[in-house]
Amino acid sequence: MSTTLPNAMELSKEDWLQHSQAKGLPKFRANQICEWIFDKKISTPTEASNLPGAIKSSLIQDFSWEKPKVISRLDSEDGASKLLLRSGERLQTYEAVILRYENRTSLCVSSQVGCKLACTFCQTGKLGFFRNLNTAEIIGQYRIAEDIVRSEGRRISHIVFMGMGEPLDNFTAVSKAVKLLTSADGYGLSQRRVTVSTSGLVPQIKQLGVENKCALAISLHAPTDELRSKLMPINRKYPLATLKQALCEYQAQTGQVITIEYILLEEQNDSLKEAKQLVKYLHGLRAKINLIPFNTHPGSPFLRPQIKRMESFQKYLSTRGYPAPIRYSKGLGVSAACGQLAAKSQHNLDSKPQRQNVLHAQ
Ligand code: SAH
Ligand code: SF4
Repeated sequence: MSTTLPNAMELSKEDWLQHSQAKGLPKFRANQICEWIFDKKISTPTEASNLPGAIKSSLIQDFSWEKPKVISRLDSEDGASKLLLRSGERLQTYEAVILRYENRTSLCVSSQVGCKLACTFCQTGKLGFFRNLNTAEIIGQYRIAEDIVRSEGRRISHIVFMGMGEPLDNFTAVSKAVKLLTSADGYGLSQRRVTVSTSGLVPQIKQLGVENKCALAISLHAPTDELRSKLMPINRKYPLATLKQALCEYQAQTGQVITIEYILLEEQNDSLKEAKQLVKYLHGLRAKINLIPFNTHPGSPFLRPQIKRMESFQKYLSTRGYPAPIRYSKGLGVSAACGQLAAKSQHNLDSKPQRQNVLHAQ
C-alpha cells in the first residue's frame, strides 16, 4: 500500500508456491502460508504458529502486511456500516459498506477513488477521478470487513463491486481481486456471490467473461440510446445494441443470470412506455431486474418517483415475466446507499487532491 514491498494480500496460491520455491522452501510451507492467509485470515505472520521463526521473519521482511486503515465507521439503524478507509499516508479516502441481512452479510467494495464516467445521477461521478485502487486495497476492504463481522458471529457471504468507481475501468486489479476471492485456492467464495457492477464497458465485459465467471450487474437505467446517453455518457461509446450482444456472450460463457440495475428517476425513465421498452430490450437474455428508487443528494436535478408510479412500473415487468423487486438501499441515514458514496469524505478530509478532469473511459 504505502510501502514498495509487494503486499501479501495480493498473492495467489500460485504466487506463494513460486515464492516458496525461490526461497528454497518445501511445497508444504506454501500450503501452510496459504492456509493462514486465506482460511485463518491472519494479519501478520507472527500469528502463524506452525511456521518456524526464520520463515516468519522473512515473510515480514519480504512483504507488506498492511491493510487499509479505518478512519471512521458509521452504523445505520438498518444494519449497514459505512467504513471510511485510507491506505498508509495517502490522503484520498475510499469507502466500503457492510450490509447485514437476516441470512446473509454483504460487502459493497470500492474499486477506484472517484470515477471517470460522470453519470448524471451519481454522486461519485460528480467527484471526478482520483486514482485506481490496487488489488491489495480491494482485498483489504474484504479482510477488514470480515474482521468486523466475525466478532458478531457472521461471515461476509456476498461481495458486490458497487462502491466508489467503475470496476471495469480498473480491470487488471479488479480481475485479480475477483480471482483471489472466488478461487478454491483463495478465499473460496462462490462465483455467484461475487458481483461486478458496471455501467457497460463492453470490451472489459468480454474480457471478464474470459478471465472470471463471476456474477455481473449492469447499470442500465434506460431502455433507449437517446435517454441512456443523456443519463450516462458511456452509452455514446457503447450503445445498447453493442451492450446487449456483450451481455448475451457473457451469459453464454459463464451461465450467469445477469442482474439489471434500473434506478427509477421521476418523469425521466419511470413510465409504462420505458417499462415496455425495457422488456423488449431484455428479450432473449436471462435477467433479473432490481428497481432502485433514486437516492437523492444535494444539487441533484432528479427526484424519486411516488411509490404508486414505481409499483406500476414493477407490475408491468412482473406480468411480462420479470419479477423486479424495488430495492430500497440500506444505509441512507449514513449516506452509505448507492450513489451516495464518498463525496463527503473527500471534501471533509482531503483538501489536497485536486479534482481531475472528467475523462471518458478508453
Ligand atoms: N460504477 C459501477 C458500480 C458503482 S455504482 C456501476 O455504475 O455499476 C453502483 C450502483 O449505484 C449502480 O447501479 C449505480 O447506477 C447506482 N447509483 C448511482 N447513483 C445512484 C443514486 N443516486 N441512487 C441510486 N442508485 C445509484
Ligand atoms: Fe461511475 Fe458507476 Fe457512478 Fe456511473 S454510476 S459515475 S459508472 S460509479
